[in-house]
Amino acid sequence: MNFDKTIFTDCGGFQMLRESFLQNSTKKGINFTNPFDNSTQLVTPEKIMHIEQTINSDVAMVLDDVSPYGASYEQFVNSLQNTKKWAEECKKYHTSKKQLLFGIVQGGFFKDLREKSAKFVSELDLDGIAIGGLAIGEPMKEMFKAIDYSMPYISKEKIHYLMGVGSPNHLLDCISKGIDCFDSIFPTQNGRHNTLFTWDGKISIRKSKYKFDLNPIDENCNCKICKNLTRSYLHHLIKINDPEVKRYMQHHNLHFMQELMRKARTAIKEGQFEKFKKEFEKRFNKKEK
Ligand SMILES: [Zn+2]
Repeated sequence: MNFDKTIFTDCGGFQMLRESFLQNSTKKGINFTNPFDNSTQLVTPEKIMHIEQTINSDVAMVLDDVSPYGASYEQFVNSLQNTKKWAEECKKYHTSKKQLLFGIVQGGFFKDLREKSAKFVSELDLDGIAIGGLAIGEPMKEMFKAIDYSMPYISKEKIHYLMGVGSPNHLLDCISKGIDCFDSIFPTQNGRHNTLFTWDGKISIRKSKYKFDLNPIDENCNCKICKNLTRSYLHHLIKINDPEVKRYMQHHNLHFMQELMRKARTAIKEGQFEKFKKEFEKRFNKKEK
């Protein structure tokens, strides 16, 4: 990859939600269908630690058991038991000194389970703590509740990572709750669907009003797309189904998210985060005319 920034690797737990991959999970691990030859592959804590350490990412995740939104309380209890057992095994098999290992809080949308899981993961004393099993199709209110259930029991000294979130607004909301890092398809998915982030709100570049717009996507953006291409040209590339234009739009959105996080960090250092958040929301939440 030749990418010299921080690289996280996930464990396969989240991929359980893909019905075409998942066969079942047992105390031992997760049985997946290999999409290339339809063979059954058992992913165990030992195996996933071996894989992640061989890839040599900067941050590895323990194997977790993820239940879908709408699953029963009993299912979440069962998932939690597996997640707990697997996390202990992952810790045992993780021997790399160069790589950080993060635990994952599960427990679905239940207060008692989230609390139990958050306490357990904190006691495991790994390098960071992720909140998992969210942003899987639940209403946003439910997601925020599950974060609130977990956060009071999570060790303050550790890095807090929210998996699968999210939009610029949700990032700032969750930073307020004490989250430090995120991962999400949101910026690239929006880019692929022609929705671009600007500091004055989202724009749908496919709209005819951009046909002759010679401005960059955002005049305050320093990304290579904004420095070189106009809205009009991007609009044209979409119209002719140019194969590269989706990459351009994803690049800009990713740059925007990095910039948002950089500004948030500065605002936190200056003790101005809530002010920064309010000002950002006022501009960003404007509707596209
Ligand atoms: Zn840009």
